[in-house]
Amino acid sequence: MIISSIGHVGADAQEIAIEKNYTKWTQEEHEMTFNTLKAMTRQWQQSQSYRQYVVVGKYVRTEERFSWKIIPFTDATNPLKRFWKQVIVSWKVLFSKREQLAPKKMQDYTIESTQTPLQSREESAALLYQSATSSVSEIDPFCQQEIIEKQQIFSGDYNHVLCDIAPIGADHLLIVPKKHKTDFAQLSLEEYGEVTSLVKAVIQAHPEYYGCYLLHKTGKDAGQSVPHWHMHVVMIEDKRGDLLTKLRFLKGMLPFGRPRLSDSALRIKVEKLKTRLSSPLIQETPMGGKQIHF
Ligand SMILES: [Zn+2]
Repeated sequence: MIISSIGHVGADAQEIAIEKNYTKWTQEEHEMTFNTLKAMTRQWQQSQSYRQYVVVGKYVRTEERFSWKIIPFTDATNPLKRFWKQVIVSWKVLFSKREQLAPKKMQDYTIESTQTPLQSREESAALLYQSATSSVSEIDPFCQQEIIEKQQIFSGDYNHVLCDIAPIGADHLLIVPKKHKTDFAQLSLEEYGEVTSLVKAVIQAHPEYYGCYLLHKTGKDAGQSVPHWHMHVVMIEDKRGDLLTKLRFLKGMLPFGRPRLSDSALRIKVEKLKTRLSSPLIQETPMGGKQIHF
């Protein structure tokens, strides 16, 4: 695992990379990444540097490398500044050439710091996170049963796999913890472990696809719009689809830039995804998941 600073993407932005395709990462490697991410973001919180961040990765089938980019966001003073920062960061993440991602410095985020946290530290970190996400919209669709039923493709042991209602790519899935978790800091290792298995199953169920974008956000200024943590899986069909997806990401930031599917279009999409994904997803969940009857 290589941690490097990628300052050209944003001040203090970091990258965690392994020279292996995402589908070949072991559970231990995902666990190590999870602990490092938690330690890194907790450190930002405790030093009062940042409370908000985006974690983004791009899986490309033919590339023997996968990395998570962790991009912190300062609290924005107004919506225009927030919008502008999000556009700049997205542009850099989406269009940067690999050569520009040369490691600048190595940092060691010790796993101990996440495994033996002081109770009071945990509490103060939780409070800070609360304030980071308190400005996010109050509407929480992922705790509403009727919304889950409408968008659900699969139900794992800890997470739902949902179809995004305003897709960016050809197939756009969301992996959403069943228990209410406001942001990444509240996620347990069990929940995150299943998220990584489900992502892997989704990728493997699309063997002909070019790749996918994976991302999650904490805090309104980082683009979190729903106060319930979720991982986006945006599938990319081919190289041309990659460019279209990048443009749709940018368009999606504009007001009304992400048109929602109609009820009937959503139903068709959900059925299609259930057909493709049900059996690969069952195989990837430790307890076999709970198959949805339809
Ligand atoms: Zn919720």
